[in-house]
Amino acid sequence: MRKAFIAGNWKMNMTAKTGSEFIKQIAPLVKDADCDVAFCVPAILIPAMTEAAKGTNIAIGAENVHWEKSGAFTGEISSDMLKEYGVKYAIIGHSERRQYFGETDEGVNKRTLAALAAGITPIVCVGETLSQRKSGDTENVVRRQLEEGLKDIDDITKIVIAYEPVWAIGTGVVATDEQAEETIAFIRSEIGRIFCPKCAENIIIQYGGSMNASNCKGLMAQPDIDGGLIGGASLTLDFAKIVNYNK
Ligand code: PEP
Repeated sequence: MRKAFIAGNWKMNMTAKTGSEFIKQIAPLVKDADCDVAFCVPAILIPAMTEAAKGTNIAIGAENVHWEKSGAFTGEISSDMLKEYGVKYAIIGHSERRQYFGETDEGVNKRTLAALAAGITPIVCVGETLSQRKSGDTENVVRRQLEEGLKDIDDITKIVIAYEPVWAIGTGVVATDEQAEETIAFIRSEIGRIFCPKCAENIIIQYGGSMNASNCKGLMAQPDIDGGLIGGASLTLDFAKIVNYNK
């Protein structure tokens, strides 16, 4: 049985003050969740958010991680720096990183391997753009992202995959339950092909892209969807409704 996992992605939002207040407000609303719960937050907020989440069932994650442990990489954050604060997850290969900061599948692979080596669970994002979907390329794009981004991983079940169609992120246009299920089932079968059938059964695959309190039930009812990566709706108390989707 796979345990559901709902994670927020704060992107470049909140401050230490507003974020801490928010965690304190939402903690009692998610305390009885049956799923794993996390907020992935800007690096500078990690010390304050780990402090605010102490004693709760909320884990804190990062929004990226570099592949080297230290060195001349201005603006980057290493796994050792994250580990010091008990960071449990790191989003890797988010489409905004790919689109605006030139991140490649090769970089995604290096970051993923570094996170795993440090005991941080990577949340590896894959997904197609609107034009790729329109030209029937969704599966080819996702297959390439999986093959290139997940090379040389010993135990693939130690990562989480987030299927995030780029056209659904921050647009208010959510994938239909069927669209999300179809591609996530494809991702699961690819994990079976590239790694092993048992791995496909056990790996957690989230959906991400305009998921909110109103559409989460339908998405979460799909057999291959194990959770959500939530952007906009993770900045409001509605996030608790998503976490409690089964209540
Ligand atoms: C995201 O950024 O990962 C995301 C899914 O954003 P939103 O929920 O706002 O579409």
